[in-house]
Amino acid sequence: MDDQGLYAALIQRGMTRRSFLKFSSAMAAALALPASYAPRIAQAVEAAPRLPVIWIRAQTCGGNTESLLRSPDPKIETMLLDTISLEYHQSLLPAAGPGLDMARTSAMERYPNGYVAVIEGAIPDGASGAYCLVGGRPVSDIVREVAAGALAVIAVGSCACDGGAPAASGGLTDAKGIRGLVGGTKLITLPGCPMNVINLTAVIVHYLTFREWPALDMMGRPLAAYGNLIHNQCERRPHFEFGEFALSWGDEGAQRGWCLYKLGCKGPEAMGNCPTVRYGFGVSWNVRAGTGCVGCVSTDSWDQMGPAYRRLPSPVPFFPNLTTDMVGAAMVGGVAAVAGVHAVGMGTRYTRRARQGRREALATAEAGVAAEMVAADTVEAVPAPDATPVEAAADSSEADSSEADSSEADSSEADSPEADSSGADAPAGTGER
Ligand code: SF4
Repeated sequence: MDDQGLYAALIQRGMTRRSFLKFSSAMAAALALPASYAPRIAQAVEAAPRLPVIWIRAQTCGGNTESLLRSPDPKIETMLLDTISLEYHQSLLPAAGPGLDMARTSAMERYPNGYVAVIEGAIPDGASGAYCLVGGRPVSDIVREVAAGALAVIAVGSCACDGGAPAASGGLTDAKGIRGLVGGTKLITLPGCPMNVINLTAVIVHYLTFREWPALDMMGRPLAAYGNLIHNQCERRPHFEFGEFALSWGDEGAQRGWCLYKLGCKGPEAMGNCPTVRYGFGVSWNVRAGTGCVGCVSTDSWDQMGPAYRRLPSPVPFFPNLTTDMVGAAMVGGVAAVAGVHAVGMGTRYTRRARQGRREALATAEAGVAAEMVAADTVEAVPAPDATPVEAAADSSEADSSEADSSEADSSEADSPEADSSGADAPAGTGER
């Protein structure tokens, strides 16, 4: 374990420049950075001293250590191990007993606040911690001690993050995640069963390149790796959209690579980058292998996401047997019912309005006719309301005529001087002079 830079270590081991740049590009992709960052990453990593790592194994199956060591490409595996300087690991160091404990305490002294603590496995609190002892001490004490002097603590795998399988219902060891043991030290969580070692390497490379840790979500997970739904990145997603589902293992749909949702895939509720980064350095992942996502990156996945091959549980509280399809069908039915009620309501309203309009038009028309009739009656009634027009005209002319005669008579009488002087005995017009 020397302190020379990564690139020098790689050259010593016969690595090529091409492989190193390929590694840098893979890191840029894992950190969700543009490919143009690859040269900057390469420059920073080749100049930086390797980051000291103290790796503690607690209550674990060892899957995360396997993830660190197994690679289809031995060159990349070497690069990963050379990105860090692994100062302590219970399973990988040749020492045992007190010598192993001394390796840990020695590393902590040599790199005060300059090492990264990687914790793998759950912390069993039952029986005063007796279920997992390291050097005769409860592993919780060791974790607390190492975390106190670390640059950051990285919890690898679901067991270290939230207790994982040992903490699932029925567990006997009162297992928990490490969250309560790290005090004020920066905590980064990489859930998964196991975690993807590309994500661990990307976190370290981010620190070496930018001298800061990557952006995290509220659970302490790097957003670049855990910020997207697995369902949204899955290569079988088009089949989901077209309603093409495998209905039983090995049926035609399964053989044709159709969506595994109806066989229990948890991708629609799990956040991670498994479809893009994949395991075994890009070789495959659960869905590609045909088994469906089990949601191992989710909190309390064993209790919340299991059983592995049962369809996702009901999203509706108190109705655990409802499936998402049933909820969807109920929602569609509900929307159709509401649309129907709305249509009936609108139809009734328009009918009522139409009737009202007709009534008003009729009333207006009747009022108009009545007004015309009244007007007509008024005009006809001026000369003689009860007479016919002919009689009224006749009466009118007779009246005019008598009035004219009367006036003529008055006039002749007024114009005749004899009438005034001869007196009443002398008839008008007689010549008795
Ligand atoms: Fe989503 Fe799973 Fe179907 Fe992929 S296989 S599209 S993750 S439900």
